[in-house]
Amino acid sequence: QKAKELVRMGVSSVALKQPLQEMELQIDQKALVIGGGISGMTSALSLARQGYFTHLVEKSEVLGGQARNLYRTWKGEDIQDNLARMIREVEQEENIEVHLGSEIQDVEGFVGNFATTLQGPSGERHIEHGVVIMASGATEHKPAEYLYGEDSRVKTSQEVDRMMIEGDPYLERINSAVFIQCVGSREPERPYCSRLCCTHSMESALEIKRRKPEANVYVLYRDIRTYGEKEALYKEARKQGVIFIRFDPENKPQVTQEGDKLLVRITDHITGYPLEIETDLVNLASAIVPPEDDKLSRFFKLPVNNEGFFVESHAKLGPSEFAMDGIFLCGLAHYPKPIDESVAQGRAAASRAITLLAKEKILSSGEVAEVSPRLCVSCGTCVEVCPYSAPQFLEEGPNAGKAYINPALCKGCGLCMASCRSSAITLRGFEERQVYSMLKALAS
Ligand code: SF4
Ligand code: SF4
Repeated sequence: QKAKELVRMGVSSVALKQPLQEMELQIDQKALVIGGGISGMTSALSLARQGYFTHLVEKSEVLGGQARNLYRTWKGEDIQDNLARMIREVEQEENIEVHLGSEIQDVEGFVGNFATTLQGPSGERHIEHGVVIMASGATEHKPAEYLYGEDSRVKTSQEVDRMMIEGDPYLERINSAVFIQCVGSREPERPYCSRLCCTHSMESALEIKRRKPEANVYVLYRDIRTYGEKEALYKEARKQGVIFIRFDPENKPQVTQEGDKLLVRITDHITGYPLEIETDLVNLASAIVPPEDDKLSRFFKLPVNNEGFFVESHAKLGPSEFAMDGIFLCGLAHYPKPIDESVAQGRAAASRAITLLAKEKILSSGEVAEVSPRLCVSCGTCVEVCPYSAPQFLEEGPNAGKAYINPALCKGCGLCMASCRSSAITLRGFEERQVYSMLKALAS
C-alpha cells in the first residue's frame, strides 16, 4: 500500500515539473591562499607546481607562521632547516605571488569568481581568483597563571623551543625542569584538548635530558595524550627517567617564588603526600587558540565552532573543505594539529581545490530558490537563515530593496522557502503546487 501511495505521489508531482536551468559559471583558474604558515605554503606550492597561479597572503612580515618558533618535529626532524628550505621554494616559485604584511579588506563573488581586496604595505590591491584556501592558523595562548610573565624562568612551550633553537646555554646549566600540562586547555572557558602539547612536552623533556642527562625532569599532567605512534616518545621519556605526576583540575600545581628559588608544589597522586620541587625552569604546555578576530569568517561567511575554529563541511567526507563551494581549509585554523598533519591537510586542500581549478567552467544546480519580488516584504528572514549566504537585498533597479537569491550560491536546501512568511520564495523543482498535488494524491 505504501509503495502504491509513493508511486501515486511521484507521478502527480512529475506531471507538474517545469524544466530547470543550470547556470554556467566560468572558473578563474587562480587561487588565493590565506596564511603563510606551513599548511598555507604547502597548499600554495602544490597548486603552483601543478600549474595554477596562486596568491599567498600573510598578515605578518615573514613567512613561516608558528613553525618559526618550533625546534623539532616529534620524529626528530629539524624544523628550522626544513622551514627555511620551504620558504626559499615559495619565494622562487614563479607561479606564487607572496603578499607579506597584507590583510583581507573585502571579498565579493562566489565559486570560480572571487574578487578580493588586500590592504598591504603599498596600499590597496584587488585580486581575482577562482578558489580560496583558508590556512589562517592559530596561536599559542599566553597564560595568566603559574607566575607566567612574573618570573622569567616560567616559559611557554614555544619559548622553550626558541631557547633550544638559539642554543641558549641556560638549558645546559639547569638541574631541574618542570613541565605543567593542559595550561588553558580542558578548562571551562576552553574545554578542548590542544592535542599537540603532550607530545611537545615529551620531545622537550627528552631534549633537556639529552643536553643534561643528570637534570631532574618532571611532567605534571592530567592525562597523557601522546596519541598514535607518539606513544613511543612517552615510553622513551619514562625510560630516560622523566618523572610523571598526575594532578586534578581542582588541585592544580602551585608555582611560587621564594627568594631566588622557584618552587612547584603538588600532591603526589599515588602517595597523597605533598611534594615540593625546586626548579630552574617551568615549561607551561599552553593551549592553542584561534584568532580572536573573526573577520575572515565574516568576509567569507564561514562557520566556526564554539571555540572559534573553522568547521569543515563533513569530518569524514569533506575534511578539508567548507560547505561553501570553492573554499577549502587546512592547518591550525581548523583545529590544533602537528606539522605532519598540517602538511597532509595542506596538500589535501590543494588537491580538492584543483578539482575546480582544472575546469574552465562548471554548471550550478537548477534546483535553486527564487524570490517573487511582488510578494517579498523585505523582512530579511531569508538573508538571515540561509547557511550559504545566497539571499541578499537588491540595491538598484525596479526591485530595489527586495530579496534576490544568487543561483550560483544557492544549494536548494529550502530553508528560506520554509521560513518566508510571505510565501515569496519558490524552490525550483519543489514548487508548492507540486507538493500540494503529492499530498492530494496521498489523500485520494
Ligand atoms: Fe522577502 Fe520572504 Fe526573504 Fe522576507 S523572507 S525578505 S519576505 S523573500
Ligand atoms: Fe539559501 Fe537554502 Fe534558500 Fe538556497 S534554498 S537560498 S541555500 S536557504
